[in-house]
Amino acid sequence: MTLRGSCFCKFTIYTISLPSSASFPLEGYYSHSEIHRRLLGFPTAFLFSVPSSHVTFLEPAISRREYTQGAITAVFCGVCGASLLNYVNDVAEIHASTLDVEEVRKVVVPTAHVWCVDSSTLSAPARFIDDGLPRFAREAGGVVWDLGGKGIRKDGARLDVLAGGCCCGGVRFEVERPPEDYLDNAVLKEWTKRGRRYTAGHCFCISCRQISGAPFWDWMFVPRMQIKFLEDSTIQSIVSLQSNERDVTRRFCGVCGTHLFFTTTTTDYMLWDVAIGALDSSPLPDDWLVWKYDPRDNEDARVELFCDKYINGWLPGRLSFEDFAAPFCGDLLQEVRKGLGMPLK
Ligand SMILES: [Zn+2]
Ligand SMILES: [Zn+2]
Ligand SMILES: [Zn+2]
Repeated sequence: MTLRGSCFCKFTIYTISLPSSASFPLEGYYSHSEIHRRLLGFPTAFLFSVPSSHVTFLEPAISRREYTQGAITAVFCGVCGASLLNYVNDVAEIHASTLDVEEVRKVVVPTAHVWCVDSSTLSAPARFIDDGLPRFAREAGGVVWDLGGKGIRKDGARLDVLAGGCCCGGVRFEVERPPEDYLDNAVLKEWTKRGRRYTAGHCFCISCRQISGAPFWDWMFVPRMQIKFLEDSTIQSIVSLQSNERDVTRRFCGVCGTHLFFTTTTTDYMLWDVAIGALDSSPLPDDWLVWKYDPRDNEDARVELFCDKYINGWLPGRLSFEDFAAPFCGDLLQEVRKGLGMPLK
């Protein structure tokens, strides 16, 4: 029995030979660990493990890149940046979203949440997914994680800067909060919600999933002028991937593969989508983001902003490209809807 998986651009392809005794669905797990989050740029990985000797990459695999940190070696595509799998000792942790199958859930089902203790990032799904699966602070079978009120950490800090970066530290950036007088700036005015908040969204589109290896994606929408690269940042390591489906450019770190930014010509590259999983996990204030459209969040409730028209899924009752979620993570879509107080589909 052989499973096949590939990256978004299809340059990097792997196969897994399973013993004939293997039965489907295989047991997978959600990892909320810091390292997985950084490697993906998304707060949660959906993985299943097989002996690494059972994994083979199709040769020639010149697009295949590896990045090692501690005991983990991540394998990603150097062309499109997709995270494919990680080697940890003799085990390969496969990102289930990269499998070339029509319905992932028929092949792999989640059975637990692990490393929940690391899930302090804004929007971390561990905080709103209520799927009844066991939650462990670290490894499966270890100490059970207490969700403790489900809320995102609030420590009273009023930060005006969020720092972020890739896994290897080669790219470091800061997102600045809109200034008090943001209404005086033509761009900020269209992209800022009441309370100096940015818009954010969960995206279930196929390219976000295949390019990250994550089941879906969380973006925050930030005017470029509010993003600063730190001086010691080796920005050269950013690889730009131009996709011809739309006028899209995605940027990821060419050394470690972390996905960081998404831009389109629609906004004249003025707006950058920032991968929320790439933000530092230090306590983050929960009053930075607005996750769904509500006219009351606009300074003037009668005026629709450009961001309200730009963000796919920002229509009442919809999430971004949610129609694509069903065969891959329909259950997660329901959990996200619940988390946002939306009716189930
Ligand atoms: Zn690729
Ligand atoms: Zn990096
Ligand atoms: Zn997307």
